[in-house]
Amino acid sequence: MIYLDAAATTPVRREVLEAMWPYLTGEFGNPSSHHETGERAAAALRAARADVAATLGCRPSEVIFTSGGTEADNLAVQGIALARAARDPRRRRVVISAVEHAAVTASAEFLARVLGFTVSRVPVDSQGRVDPAELSGLLDDDVALCSVMYANNEIGTVQAVAELAAAARASDVPFHTDAVQAAGWLPLDVAALGVDAMSLSGHKLGAPKGTGVLYVRSRTPLEPLIHGGGQERGARSGTENVAGAVGFAAALRLAEAARPVQAARVAALRSRFIDRVLAEVPGSLLTGAPEERLPSVASFCFPGTSGESVLLELERAGVTCSSGSACAAGSDEPSEVLLATGLDRETAQTAVRFSFPAAVAEEELEEAAERVRQAVAAVRALRAPA
Ligand code: PLP
Repeated sequence: MIYLDAAATTPVRREVLEAMWPYLTGEFGNPSSHHETGERAAAALRAARADVAATLGCRPSEVIFTSGGTEADNLAVQGIALARAARDPRRRRVVISAVEHAAVTASAEFLARVLGFTVSRVPVDSQGRVDPAELSGLLDDDVALCSVMYANNEIGTVQAVAELAAAARASDVPFHTDAVQAAGWLPLDVAALGVDAMSLSGHKLGAPKGTGVLYVRSRTPLEPLIHGGGQERGARSGTENVAGAVGFAAALRLAEAARPVQAARVAALRSRFIDRVLAEVPGSLLTGAPEERLPSVASFCFPGTSGESVLLELERAGVTCSSGSACAAGSDEPSEVLLATGLDRETAQTAVRFSFPAAVAEEELEEAAERVRQAVAAVRALRAPA
């Protein structure tokens, strides 16, 4: 099996599991307990937080451990917008891009549906890019939060986050970015990016599912969404997942150490894979930006097929990939992200996304490209009138 669905999830790395093991077994303490067992758990949590902060270039107190990317996005979008609106009641609008993950979109829609906020969506161009000038035009003194993702999970397009964040700062609007897909592939230095909040998810990086981080710049207003014992400096109550935090920190550290070499290597393989598919599959289209894209994502439409049939055919041929977002898998609706780039519904329904694990081998991608050619031809042959 050739696994090309790393944007959906990755296995837990051995080093990560080994780092976590003590905190799942002998060192099982509750970090809030004052006895020694608790103190040792608290020390592990502190070390994990410091480790993550070192990679992000922030203070440990700016790192909030969450149950994953979805919770981090919910906390950023709702928590910052609510706190900002509480301080300044004119600010009851959130601005998000047209290609956000559902965790951001649905959080913004919740603010609108239940709390009377309005939501503005900044459009993207045909490559899925947000224009900073266009974003500026939507930012005013009624905006409580702006959220634009770092890299898109379906088409791999990378946004000019530093420029977008600068536009938000110029309008005094807190800026959040969902960096779930960027982590391990793109620089995460929050000062260089200029963001006020950034979401990360562990299971895209070799840590377990259900682990994540929200970075929130100090003094950014934040209303907690989970109430209770006041853990995570009051931002996120609940007994901390110590082993999860330790695993997240280990995975992020390993991914970051390998990133410069790995990103360049995989980007070269990705470009070769894209070139081969475009050359060998008649009529195939690349979705997303040709240049500003994740090293790990190659995404296409194959007009005249159904994306689902191509996926089935590829699975039969031993290539595991997806039509786009794992969250939308099985849905008959075309992807909102592809529609936002201007594709028509029919073409959008032929989408297939290949997302590469960091350790992907050249031969695997050569083999996969050949199987893609065969799979698309087989689906087209079935659909062709007799
Ligand atoms: N944001 C993006 C861009 C994602 O791709 C995902 C997961 O696929 C998430 C958020 C949600 O992260 P999690 O699965 O950790 O909840």
